[in-house]
Amino acid sequence: MKNRNIRFALALAVCLGASVSASAQTGATNTPFWAGMKDAASFERAMDARLANAKATLDKMLLVKGARTTENTLRPYDDILLELDTVSSQAQLVQSVHPVEAVRQTAEKVTQKAGTFGTDLSLNRGVYDALAAVDASKADAETQYFLKRTLRDFRLAGVDKDEATRKRIKALRDELVVIGQDFDRNIRTDLRKVTAKNAAELEGLPADFIARHKPDANGVITLTIDYPDSLPVFSFAKNEDLRKRMYMEYSNRGYPKNIETLDKMIARRAELAALVGYKNWADYITADKMVENATNASQFIDRIVAASGPKADREFEVLLKRKQQEVPSATGVTAWERAYYAELVRKSSYDFDSQSVRPYFAFDRVKQGLFDVTSKLFGVSYRPINVPTWDKSVEAYEMVENGKVIGRFYLDMHPRKDKYNHAAEFPLRTGATNRQIPEAALVCNLPGGEPGDPGLMTHDDVQTFFHEFGHLVHTLVSGRHQWIGISGINTEQDFVEAPSQMLEEWTWDPKTLQTFAKHYQTNEPIPTALVTRMRRASEFGKAMTVRQQMVYAKLSLSVYDRDPKSVNTTTMVKELVNKYTRSPYVEGTHFQTSFGHLDGYSAVYYTYMWSLVIAKDMFSQFDRRDLLAPTVASKYRNDVLAPGGSKPAATLVADFVGRPFSYKAWEDWLNREEQ
Ligand SMILES: [Zn+2]
Repeated sequence: MKNRNIRFALALAVCLGASVSASAQTGATNTPFWAGMKDAASFERAMDARLANAKATLDKMLLVKGARTTENTLRPYDDILLELDTVSSQAQLVQSVHPVEAVRQTAEKVTQKAGTFGTDLSLNRGVYDALAAVDASKADAETQYFLKRTLRDFRLAGVDKDEATRKRIKALRDELVVIGQDFDRNIRTDLRKVTAKNAAELEGLPADFIARHKPDANGVITLTIDYPDSLPVFSFAKNEDLRKRMYMEYSNRGYPKNIETLDKMIARRAELAALVGYKNWADYITADKMVENATNASQFIDRIVAASGPKADREFEVLLKRKQQEVPSATGVTAWERAYYAELVRKSSYDFDSQSVRPYFAFDRVKQGLFDVTSKLFGVSYRPINVPTWDKSVEAYEMVENGKVIGRFYLDMHPRKDKYNHAAEFPLRTGATNRQIPEAALVCNLPGGEPGDPGLMTHDDVQTFFHEFGHLVHTLVSGRHQWIGISGINTEQDFVEAPSQMLEEWTWDPKTLQTFAKHYQTNEPIPTALVTRMRRASEFGKAMTVRQQMVYAKLSLSVYDRDPKSVNTTTMVKELVNKYTRSPYVEGTHFQTSFGHLDGYSAVYYTYMWSLVIAKDMFSQFDRRDLLAPTVASKYRNDVLAPGGSKPAATLVADFVGRPFSYKAWEDWLNREEQ
């Protein structure tokens, strides 16, 4: 699946209408974030000044005498959040993209400092007691919601436990950071190789793949298990043995080391959840999500599994039939045959070659098209500006509404040495009414960016661009609230992908595509028939993909929803693969040891599908014959995007669709057969 991460601002965060000094700014500001940053030292100074201001604000807030009010307590707390949010989000971007290693390393150090500050704050009993004493009964709804959510987050952190327990919680949190780093490192450094005896073994692979992999003096060709090597092998290699050998290595990355790392991670999290008062980690981690608890998450997975069964079976039969054309006696399709036969089905039944659309998707045209589409939908415009950035290839823009600048953003769109190599949106500053406008950056690795290169993108790239831009629009249009803690995309984690997943729909609409997807040489708009073939081809296999996703979701939940002593991750993988998919578990494989989300997402991998169900439901409100119609889009912006985290996500969705969200649109999408 695509890597479409989003970086969260620290869930804990606050600023005192502090005065701004010329050397290092603290407090609210509208200055472009990279202004005045010359090197590692100037960046660290600026970030240290913010953390120092947060600390000073904290000390002052604790010393307040007399009745606790929103003005003397919640306001300074939110000012601390402002500083912490700014420091952690900016440091995360800089450590991921800055071209100079020393600056990246400094940013990592700053991230750790902000992390420590955040953990200490979340366990600070004095701060919690002060906030709990605030009488907000006469405050407005947003303020009441913010205070209520803040107190809940403090309790989830364990602030109301005795000192010994809080000490143990902190130790466990620190240890979990190290365990997570071990887990990642064991994946990253397990550089497995697969060799092909000769060039003939690469038969079926694309010409540019073969050209990139030259044989050595003995004629042997060495492949890695990274995506650029492994995915084409699974899809195109005619040699079954090569696919099988690739599968075995690919499904053992991080093994055996990470079996133990994972067991330790699961055990420590179970202990932490128990200390805070939860039955298990899955219940603990879902307590602040839309899904509310592990039982609901489990029922959600069961429902998706049941809904996708009949279609996944039909798709599997098509695969098996295709295989039987080559192997008449075949009765099954193995894990290393699935992608290969799916590709053959797409070619023979749908007549679609993914390369054929690239001439219509030159980077600059897609960018302009995306700007035009989102301008129309959300009633904003964009204008390029000349402000300092971290690399000369980065572009900066302002988002303008009714002549007023409401946000600023940066596009860092093409590959560069030492740059973050996935696609993500990085919020850089959360907006606050009359105090500061939001800032965010898009970081992608799309084609183009070199002189003379038109940057011809695949449709997958176009979807990625729309998806990430969806996060950016969400961040910028939700930046006008009185409290940092509920402004921007500080919303439930299992909702935050929905707006982005929904914006991808516009990349499948021929009428929308024809406004910008024009052949880079002839200027001919993309033909409707080609879009239709592309859609049909994309439909095949989606139920099997949903089932595969549920293997991941259920594993993620199950390793965390029971006594860790009863968890054997390999047995669990085997059971789930055999239960949810028609290709049996392959003995000797351990995909869980490289399933990075078991650390980052822990029990909540279900969130991707949950968000997708909501995205499909929200999209059903739009008129498919006229996706650019402004009325519904503006209602969506006002009901769902602009409120940011100021209301529960379920309320935002219900405000927009006029009822609690439903599965119907998702089920229609799942069962739809393109004609
Ligand atoms: Zn995303």
